[in-house]
Amino acid sequence: AQGDVLINLIECVDFAAIKHRNQRRKDSDSTPYINHPIGVARILTHEAGIQDIVILQAALLHDTVEDTDTTFEELEKKFGKAVTKVVREVTDDKSLPSEERKRLQIVHAPTSSPEAKAVKLADKLYNLRDLCKGTPRGWSSKRCEEYFKWSKKVVDGLRGTCPIIESELDKIFTAKGLM
Ligand code: NDP
Ligand code: ZN
Repeated sequence: AQGDVLINLIECVDFAAIKHRNQRRKDSDSTPYINHPIGVARILTHEAGIQDIVILQAALLHDTVEDTDTTFEELEKKFGKAVTKVVREVTDDKSLPSEERKRLQIVHAPTSSPEAKAVKLADKLYNLRDLCKGTPRGWSSKRCEEYFKWSKKVVDGLRGTCPIIESELDKIFTAKGLM
């Protein structure tokens, strides 16, 4: 029922807000971290027109395991297998060196599920729009440039999923001279 969908979404927003409560983004204003997962979900609903509850829940939860003490077991108990599977697909293994994590994102992108691809595309769009607004604290312009180049390689493996999000990403890549 529609009521269940709304309740599940609010439960995800609340869970993510609690888990990310002490974190800030890397922008000069140190924006509360929770703005990011909410903004990723909003790209999917308001820009891409997506209403799939599993995708939207996964978007709200997508950085809880990677960036907080949340476990996949905890997510599965609270939000079920389908949502947890998508979050698992978009979560980097933080025990690996960062170069390897970045490489694996490029390698895994093409074989991930359509749901995971949608979340990943919206995540990349949100982060690249952030970078367009300003260089994160402590980053050189070279580091920013490399992030755009790497993101393009990941996005190239996610194509054919969400034309609207892909065209927004392409506007950014074109402006940066990457296509
Ligand atoms: P990342 O490159 O992983 O940082 C970018 C991530 O930070 C984004 O993917 C996003 O992830 C999050 N984020 C938070 N705030 C912002 C924001 N305002 N704009 C964009 N993204 C934001 O940095 P790490 O700290 O993990 O560093 C690891 C990588 O950086 C390695 O590959 C390393 O080689 C490279 N590096 C490069 C340097 C250089 O000068 N070229 C120097 C040092 C490291 P999320 O969606 O999860 O929030
Ligand atoms: Zn993210």
